[in-house]
Amino acid sequence: MQQSAQDLRAMERRRFLEGLVKGSVAGMAGLAAMRPLTAFGQEMMEIRGPRMPDRPLRRITERCYYILADGPFPTAGNQGFMGNVGIVFTRKGVVIIDSGASVQIGEMVLRKIEEHTDKPVVAIINTHYHGDHWMGNHAFVNAYPDVPIYAHPECTQAIKGTQGEFWKGLLNRSTDNAIAGTIITPPNEDAEHGQEFDFGDCTLRLHHYGTAHTPTDITVEVVEDHVTYIGDVAMANRIANMDDGSYLGTFETMDKLEANTDTISWVPGHGAFGPDVMKRNRELFEGIYESVKKYYDQGLMDYEMKDKVIADPRVAKYRQWYGFESTIGRYISIAYLEVEKNIW
Ligand SMILES: [Zn+2]
Repeated sequence: MQQSAQDLRAMERRRFLEGLVKGSVAGMAGLAAMRPLTAFGQEMMEIRGPRMPDRPLRRITERCYYILADGPFPTAGNQGFMGNVGIVFTRKGVVIIDSGASVQIGEMVLRKIEEHTDKPVVAIINTHYHGDHWMGNHAFVNAYPDVPIYAHPECTQAIKGTQGEFWKGLLNRSTDNAIAGTIITPPNEDAEHGQEFDFGDCTLRLHHYGTAHTPTDITVEVVEDHVTYIGDVAMANRIANMDDGSYLGTFETMDKLEANTDTISWVPGHGAFGPDVMKRNRELFEGIYESVKKYYDQGLMDYEMKDKVIADPRVAKYRQWYGFESTIGRYISIAYLEVEKNIW
């Protein structure tokens, strides 16, 4: 059983990674509906992927909730629901932290919110430009055309630039077009470090400490609840993607979040919330970075040190995390380049 679950995970991961490079158009089998609409005086076909099945709201505190994603990577089976959606029910209305990877996921979140409150969605915050954190914006703008969507200004630029189309294509290919119908809807308000929002019964405070998971990470502290939504600065049960990130920057961001917030519950973009999410992720990343530095100093190349780095107990402990086996070599290489950059 264990083996077959691993095989399935490896297959899903491979399919996602192939999507990063292939650019092929997958079959249209997953499409549920086609309906005509008129735009610019022309008949067009709007093609929609299937409805996203409802997922439960998970309670962190009286105000803070999230909907846990259905797996770590996008597949046809999970229709792209690979990233958690954070929800804060305030006196003034509902705040969304990361909106999911599709219009269908956003619509599901709206249905779940309506079961809980009559209040409107009053703000959305996108923690960074990876598509599973903002593609659901489309559904919220459909429901609330004037809703402010906050992000780091460089995140918004990235989405309006190459990241928007890149993620739309990647998610379409890796889900057999389950996200079809999703329109790229970039953020429309700048977020900055130290910004605070008063929602009547609670304060949301934004934090940004330079490059961690990406150069544009915004984390959201719900001050009175001692809850911080950290996007992908740390993950649980999945190794975080470091392609756009920095190990040293991640440690600095983690240090400052620990020092400048009074957090009991860390809510990651992937995996379950808890008190140890940052601590565990930090242990893994320190194990990788410090081992790489040790073997770099001994004159080893990145490909020569892989087995030794994985044998470090701080790293070996997390070998069962999703994506570990298929990406650890790449993340060792990224650490190697960062060590080299900081030597000189
Ligand atoms: Zn990410």
